[in-house]
Amino acid sequence: MSSNGSAGNSPLAACEVTVAYRNTPVLTDLSFEVPPGTLTAIVGPNGAGKSTLIKTALGLVQPLKGQFEFFGKSFREVDGRVSYVPQRTSVDWDFPVTSLDVVCMGLYRKIGWFRPVRARHRGRAMEALAEVGMQDYAKRQISQLSGGQQQRVFLARALVQDAELFLMDEPLAGVDVATEKTIINTLHRLRDEGKTAMVVHHDLDTVSEYFDRVLLLNRQVIAEGAAKDVMTSEHLKQAYSGKLLILS
Ligand code: ADP
Repeated sequence: MSSNGSAGNSPLAACEVTVAYRNTPVLTDLSFEVPPGTLTAIVGPNGAGKSTLIKTALGLVQPLKGQFEFFGKSFREVDGRVSYVPQRTSVDWDFPVTSLDVVCMGLYRKIGWFRPVRARHRGRAMEALAEVGMQDYAKRQISQLSGGQQQRVFLARALVQDAELFLMDEPLAGVDVATEKTIINTLHRLRDEGKTAMVVHHDLDTVSEYFDRVLLLNRQVIAEGAAKDVMTSEHLKQAYSGKLLILS
């Protein structure tokens, strides 16, 4: 795609991506381009392939065909410009580290592996914790945090990476109202600074309020574009195969 220059500026573009697990196709012929400085929600029913899309983009799953491009390049070439926030439930929270440790881990690229964390690094990590309202929990073991607090720490870890593109897998799942507001305010702040985020989101009621754009997915792209154009009952019926009871 970048050969004709069309996707060169796009923080993330999919070019005819097909993914299968043990010969069962999960994503078929996915093509899209995310414009810079936008917040995109990835929306679709359970099993639609939302997590698979993110994992494939990051090279954790190999596509059968096609490729993802970040800023017109492969993921390896742009590593530091992309930050990934995995699903909270996919992480072992019993690991004996503090909130501050987790945020400092986001700085390792800057610090260098096996080098000591210095006061200025801790200062940057504390700033990020403060931005998500977690400064008072810096020394707390992560196993002793609520789900919402864990998610805020994850966000702080992403913030210190100073990435240009943020990929987040369900950051609002199971969090309290205050955490939801904090995460959305932070995403809006990043967007206003010209950063880009793609976020798996499950709550159809808040999609248009929180996000500029939507990628509606069910094993293939059902619709993609401005939230108001994508979140129509026609598209939602198509994506959810008539399983949606309430369409507002
Ligand atoms: P979503 O995030 O939209 O709920 P997923 O990407 O997690 O969807 O899963 C899409 C489909 O792929 C589902 O049917 C799921 O069961 C299947 N799947 C996901 N991961 C694997 C895996 N590692 N091996 C085999 N099948 C998988």
